[in-house]
Amino acid sequence: MSFVVYNSYSKKKETFEPIEPGKVRMYNCGPTVYNRAHIGNFRSYLFADVLRRWLEYLGHEVRQVMNITDVGHLQDDADDGLDKIEEQARREKRDPWEISREFTELFFRDAEELSILPAHEYPRATDHVPEMLAIIEDLVQKGFAYEVDGEVYFDVTRFEGYGRLSGNRLEDLEAGARVEVREEKRHPADFALWKSDPHHMMKWESRFGPHGFPGWHIECSAMALKHLGEEIDIHTGGEDNVFPHHESEIAQSESHTGRRFARYWMHARFLQVDGGKMSKSLGNTYVLDDVKARGAEPRALRFALIRGHYRQPLNFTWEILDESAKALEGLDDLARRLRLAAQGRNAADDPSGGADALAEARAKFETAMNDDLNTAMAFSALFELRSAVLESRLGAETAAAALDFVRAANGVLAVIRVDEEELDADVERRIAAREEARAGKNWAEADRLRDELLAEGIVLEDSASGVIWRRK
Ligand SMILES: [Zn+2]
Repeated sequence: MSFVVYNSYSKKKETFEPIEPGKVRMYNCGPTVYNRAHIGNFRSYLFADVLRRWLEYLGHEVRQVMNITDVGHLQDDADDGLDKIEEQARREKRDPWEISREFTELFFRDAEELSILPAHEYPRATDHVPEMLAIIEDLVQKGFAYEVDGEVYFDVTRFEGYGRLSGNRLEDLEAGARVEVREEKRHPADFALWKSDPHHMMKWESRFGPHGFPGWHIECSAMALKHLGEEIDIHTGGEDNVFPHHESEIAQSESHTGRRFARYWMHARFLQVDGGKMSKSLGNTYVLDDVKARGAEPRALRFALIRGHYRQPLNFTWEILDESAKALEGLDDLARRLRLAAQGRNAADDPSGGADALAEARAKFETAMNDDLNTAMAFSALFELRSAVLESRLGAETAAAALDFVRAANGVLAVIRVDEEELDADVERRIAAREEARAGKNWAEADRLRDELLAEGIVLEDSASGVIWRRK
């Protein structure tokens, strides 16, 4: 059975074949660290995480690189507007380096709570300026780029494939619909590789001038090249990255190396909130803390964001989050029943009883995931397995095999508590003991229990409705 993916570049579903058999080089466009990543951003990062996990399920060795954009991402995604990080720094009267450090840390924390596997590298743009300048220099030498007053622009008319990914045609871009007409550019769609601004707070000296900084697009080309090589297998991002960002990455990278940059381009669709676009004015650009403040677990958000196919519209509401938490309780319950039945408790007499239901669930799950990561159908395979278990008991052997299957499926989905029942009961017992100690004003003992749990990665949070706990 082969893994089929929708390639945004060819606009077709294609069988996935890595350049080097068994090894996958994947680049994900990561966060611009000027504010907290919102749940819409996380739809895209969770898609990349599920993709990586599925590739690993299939036996590939994945090398995943996700960049951290900490300079040069201007407000309009192209060549105009303020640098997002600097704008935030000016607004808060803080150092831009401090802003990017803070939000990078918060991004890592949120990602970990959402069970996103850490990428193998998280290169920061500001650490790769020499590499960017080397590519820019090469593009100027080869005639793909030109310098104007300390700035360097890519000449889109020199790259034949410009517009192939996004479907934009150069003639249409002349009109300046999504490109700013600036007189220093030869063609309105030319984009900046290197900018110059004496007032920019983060700046680098180069042969083009004393106060330059990179364009956002060249950053990803340089970091992908350095950490993954000239040709990569998969490049992902959100649908808003297609143009101009990815279109420009292709033009720069391929003009520089003379080779095909990425074999497969995959893009996640925007998340809708309350049935529409997320917006600051509506106050619904939610972040993970908003979810936790409602008492929901991060895994409920993870489920809410991956329960639909990544290329389909997906809506988020607080009701959907509540339903997600309930759905996960159902899957936890499935795992619990399988654990018991595997030990012969409440199992059918025939040890292999229910084998058909398991085979069906496994086949459906794998077929779904192989079909361009159809997570919606993959989850329904698990819910159907639960229905089968509720309807008639499984034999102990089948239950053990089913538990292995659920564990493997959860290695991809990462939302179910497969093996944690005993542990949970133990945590609850110690929390109750701590409550008892506190009621008796035995603070030393209460603190000792809290520290003991913390050492095991269990964080206690006192709330109005009692103590809640989570795993770090
Ligand atoms: Zn990028």
